[in-house]
Amino acid sequence: MQLRERGVRGVILSYVDTAGINRVKAVPLSRLDDAVRWGVGMSPVFDTFLANDSIATTDRLGSPDGDLRLRPDMDRVVVLAAQPGWAWTPADRFTEDGSPWVADQRGFARRMVALAAPLEFRMAIEVEWAVGADSAEFVAACRGPAYGMTRLVELSDYVRDVLAACEDQGLRVEQIHPEYADGQFEVSVAAADPVRAADDSVLVRQTIRAVSHRYGLRPSFAPAVVAGRVGNGGHVHLSAWRDGDNLFGEFPAGVPGSAAAGILAHLPALLAVGAPTPASYLRLVPSRWAGAYACWGVQTRETALRFVPGTAGLPGASNLEVKCVDLAANPYLLVGALIAAALDGVERGLSLPEPVTGDPALLPGAPRLPTSLDEATDAFAADGVLRAAFGQVLFDAIVAVRRAEAERFRDTKPEDVAAALRWVY
Ligand code: GLU
Ligand code: MG
Repeated sequence: MQLRERGVRGVILSYVDTAGINRVKAVPLSRLDDAVRWGVGMSPVFDTFLANDSIATTDRLGSPDGDLRLRPDMDRVVVLAAQPGWAWTPADRFTEDGSPWVADQRGFARRMVALAAPLEFRMAIEVEWAVGADSAEFVAACRGPAYGMTRLVELSDYVRDVLAACEDQGLRVEQIHPEYADGQFEVSVAAADPVRAADDSVLVRQTIRAVSHRYGLRPSFAPAVVAGRVGNGGHVHLSAWRDGDNLFGEFPAGVPGSAAAGILAHLPALLAVGAPTPASYLRLVPSRWAGAYACWGVQTRETALRFVPGTAGLPGASNLEVKCVDLAANPYLLVGALIAAALDGVERGLSLPEPVTGDPALLPGAPRLPTSLDEATDAFAADGVLRAAFGQVLFDAIVAVRRAEAERFRDTKPEDVAAALRWVY
């Protein structure tokens, strides 16, 4: 790619830490070749950083010692449309002797993709965000109703610029629309291989952030923008393919049924990955379409897993939507963990229970998902399948970071939890 001709001066190397925060190093374009070859130094301590920049520890991580090399993935370099002069690339982390870093989150996702072969997963992560004025409190930047045209009129130029910037960066936008909550919008992009889907999720959010700044607006991707209200989800759509065919056409039979059953079986533990902050549990409550129940349904928006059959005449569109997860999640950890859980279901030949129709809240004994980060982390810490998939070092980092995040909000009121995390992710 002709970066200089396109006015690029600096290249951002993007990395997402265990807590879900996007951390970066940047190099001038003149140093990019060296960065590709040798990497750029970055401390491994970020593996146990918390969302407020304090540091947890495990027996392997969290000390001031050591260094890693951050290497840009030049297959994914993008010239940023809303940050003139900048290019962006996701980075992989290596040790100083050149081997892949054992706790690298993107490397974990890549490992799970390889493990799934010849099964190929395709995923897409929906991005919901609330647009606010540039203040600490959330003051919605538009007033129109949910899904209302009024919002698209009020923020017409802004939303068009988000759309255009995404497309100019090679993202395949499928739709963009006003969502339910105050000032909330959503954008979805086309499904891709899981690592790319995770990259896209990071890029889409930073693009929205950049456009928002240009308009003097502030985007919140937090699970709970305001306590007690509908929040932002980060739903993952997934399908599994073999030899060019989407196996989800035969759902809930066969491989896709077992894959979904694997995800369902591990769902409480997966929440420690996909709903990684105390604010996630302010969002994940019944009657908000967040999927607070551990069951599945066909086109049911209150179940954690929603099967989307696709439209007649549109082959390949069937997929499973995992609704209970949010955008505080590190998307690389999340896509990899979903694959690990799905593969476990396939290996064990699990099958799904009967689907739920209607609101699970009205069914006697419908299983609620964990209602706190503590509960999800307990389930995760006891999950041997996920431990084996992550490897002990990364697994321990996730447990330590989640325990520390839960601890620092131990006696905090919901409105203060939401306020503390509103602008962080
Ligand atoms: N905002 C809802 C959530 O927290 C999702 C709404 C929808 O179904 O798109 O997940
Ligand atoms: Mg939505």
